Order: sequence, then C-alpha cells, then structure tokens
Amino acid sequence: MALLNILKEGDETLRKKSRPVEEITPRILTLLDDMHETLAKAEGIGLAAPQVGILRRIVIVEIGDDKYEMINPEIISRRGVQKELEACLSVPDLYGRVKRPKFVKVRYTDRNGETHEVEGEGLKARCFCHELDHLDGVLYIDRAEETFTPDEVEDA
Ligand code: ZN
Repeated sequence: MALLNILKEGDETLRKKSRPVEEITPRILTLLDDMHETLAKAEGIGLAAPQVGILRRIVIVEIGDDKYEMINPEIISRRGVQKELEACLSVPDLYGRVKRPKFVKVRYTDRNGETHEVEGEGLKARCFCHELDHLDGVLYIDRAEETFTPDEVEDA
C-alpha cells in the first residue's frame, strides 16, 4: 500500500467531474487500499478519489466500525434537513456550517462488483453527501452558510 497526496483547495483537479468506473481492475483495488491508508493517516472519516488526483467515481467512508467502499455511488433518496459543521481534508484549518439532508440512501457498487443500498443518518448522511459532492467538483465551502477558523469554531 502507499500513502497518497491529498490535493488542496486551489488545485483544479478538485473542481472537475469524475468519470464512472466501468471495470473494477486491479488498479482500482490498489487505489481503494491506498485511499484507506491515506484516510487513516489523515485521521479523516471520508475521502473521494479526486482528492488524491484520480477523477473516478469512488469514495470511502469510515465512521467508527462502519466502513464503506463505494464505486459509482448515487444518492437515491433523501429526507429531512440538518445544518451541522463540516471540514474537509482538502480545505485545511476551516470549518463550515452546511445544510444537508438528515437521511440519505446511497446505491453503490463494492469492490466485488455487487450492488448495495445503505441509509445514513446524521453524521453519516453528511459524510455521504460531502464525499459524493467531490465527484462532481463541489467542495463544502461552496455550500456553507458560514465558515469558521479553528479558533472560532469552539463558539460556533
Ligand atoms: Zn472533502
């Protein structure tokens, strides 16, 4: 496995639309493994392939014991509203309050080519939405109603 470089805001790759994965090749599996290693090192909860410079529709999410590898993920239903703070490994030292659905259901393909549907609530729903936005070149700061520096965030 290898640690990958996480691109930062300002890199135009983060603003591009990622292409679907048509075939799950050994390269895709290596990318997934490397993304897990990179996310663990960065102590984040989600990472999208464009953040490591690969414009493919792949995200990983790791919240506690819940770990997802999502290939070609799509939000197929959403309900409710939440407005909570988000951060992004590609936008260091900033937090922002973002309006998101409270629940989302995501359909995706796993590394074995099987299709799954998973419902996320709260933090998990926010994370799914945030990571899927990366696949369309959208950063949470585009949607944030307010942003905060680490000093300000304690009062936010
Ligand atoms: Zn992000």
